[in-house]
Amino acid sequence: MKSFLTSVFALVLLTAHAQKQPGYWQQRIDYAMEVSMNVEDFTYKGSSTVKYTNHSPDTLNRVFFHLYFNAFRPGSDMDARLQSISDPDNRMVTENKESRISVLSEDEMGYLEVTQITQNQGAPLKTSHEETILVVDLQTPLLPQSSTTLSLDFEGQVPLQIRRSGRNSEEGVALSMSQWYPKMVEYDHEGWHDYPYIAREFHGVWGDFDVKLTLDKSYTVAATGYLQNADEIGHGYSDEEVRIRKNQKNLTWHFKADNVHDFMWAADPEYVHDKLVTADEVTLHFFYKHKPVLAENWKNLQSKTEEAMSFFNEHVGKYPYKQYSVVQGGDGGMEYAMATLITGDRPFPSLVGVMVHELAHSWFQHVLATNEGKHSWMDEGFTSYISSLCMNSLMGRNQEHPYAGSYRGYYALVESKMEEPQTTHSDRYDKNFAYSIAAYSKGSVFLAQLGYIIGKDALVKTLKRYYTDYQFTHPAPNDFIRTAEKVSGAHLGWYLNDFTKTTKTIDYAIESVKPGSTGAAIELKRLGGIGMPIDLVVSLNDGSQHHYYIPLTEMRAEKPNEHELARTVLSDWSWAQQRYAFEIPHTLESIKSIAIDPSTRMADIDQSNNVFSQ
Ligand SMILES: [Zn+2]
Repeated sequence: MKSFLTSVFALVLLTAHAQKQPGYWQQRIDYAMEVSMNVEDFTYKGSSTVKYTNHSPDTLNRVFFHLYFNAFRPGSDMDARLQSISDPDNRMVTENKESRISVLSEDEMGYLEVTQITQNQGAPLKTSHEETILVVDLQTPLLPQSSTTLSLDFEGQVPLQIRRSGRNSEEGVALSMSQWYPKMVEYDHEGWHDYPYIAREFHGVWGDFDVKLTLDKSYTVAATGYLQNADEIGHGYSDEEVRIRKNQKNLTWHFKADNVHDFMWAADPEYVHDKLVTADEVTLHFFYKHKPVLAENWKNLQSKTEEAMSFFNEHVGKYPYKQYSVVQGGDGGMEYAMATLITGDRPFPSLVGVMVHELAHSWFQHVLATNEGKHSWMDEGFTSYISSLCMNSLMGRNQEHPYAGSYRGYYALVESKMEEPQTTHSDRYDKNFAYSIAAYSKGSVFLAQLGYIIGKDALVKTLKRYYTDYQFTHPAPNDFIRTAEKVSGAHLGWYLNDFTKTTKTIDYAIESVKPGSTGAAIELKRLGGIGMPIDLVVSLNDGSQHHYYIPLTEMRAEKPNEHELARTVLSDWSWAQQRYAFEIPHTLESIKSIAIDPSTRMADIDQSNNVFSQ
């Protein structure tokens, strides 16, 4: 019943969207998988029946699947990249900075091989394994608006945990199973997104998953999706006592998840499994290994998870599923459908921080589902922004500028001279450092600074409308900026172009303050490549403050006054004019100081010239 309601809800959303954007289409896939895992040697075998529906206007002769585990073999693209990048991910290299993939033995490496694939139960199809991508030539071309059924048999080995997924994590979790099955590559109006798995990150096709996992009965399984046979399983899923026959070796776990674009699971014989049903009737599951301090933190984490979920429901939009699982596993924090894998042995604030960040991804990475490889800043950046706000509220921090850390990161990146535009594919940055800051920090600055440009209230409305209009559609940067334009009435294409597609920076200066004809004459100068509207505050010796606003011509709009005090709107300043002179009705002697954007939401890379004081 729960699953049924979820899919009806999703269908309504998709239909609603189709009315908003004429011509929009997306592919559809439904998976039915049966997999058995050998917990002794970490090999597994499975079969998958996928119904793939082509909503594109194109006839498809080929389809592609991701086979991510093949990245964890010596000599793979991921291994090569690890050896050539100057600042490799610490988790993936030894103390001597050697690639951990390069030294994996036959029984430690990962692999995933499709041993047979047929179309509509016909003869085996011609395939080519190209490391992490499987190329499949269809026997019958797939016409627009038609479906085909592909049946796959596959075999894999879970690699030693090196990145995101794998066996025997550093914290001793046996199985962190993400990126583990042959996963259909997304095809959209831009074509196939068949990126090899080098480092990061993901993009997928929405569909319904029906997954049966068979493994040793002592293991507790956490997974994307609703467990269908809790009364045969127990393990904390059922309140009934479940009797498992003594001579029965395995259990088969049956999960269903509707309208998700990925399926993750994790398993360990020592998991503690707690549940909490929120006021909104979402069941939160927690899986962790028992250790004294860790267990206490994980108990305290549970109410924080409920609070965080209601924060995001209120500030972004309603979480559309009825379940979410916080699972100890993996190597840091990584978001998946209806679940996250996080390392668990952390101080409490760090544990809450990683849960909040990964949970926030459910809205951006999963429900909106921007292509994470192409537009990582929209996923990591927006997630970072909303997580900062959530942490500020959840931990009672009361910071005026909760995203200040993102600004500091961005300024450090500019100073390093290693910045690359945010349009860079996340695998193509020269440095991991440049990727991280561009995606997380600068992405968060993009939103916080948008609040400066269009005003706080318009930013709040933009985020909510963006979520409502674009959920389950893989929005791209232009979709977001158009939403902000419609909400605010301002033209914002210049902001998207200059801030995300170039490494140009913002730097305004108070050039001079002199006696004027009646008051003081001020000259401002644009030193950076990006133009901005200017908030300017004049503080007088008598303690009063006077707000001025210089609209940017290209915006064709003025943001509403954000202050309680009245504001004087000066004439427009257009980007090409480097200088801007104006007079204020206060004498030079009466002025204590003048400051450009005292809120520091404008990411001005040199703030020393933003202030005049005497
Ligand atoms: Zn993230």
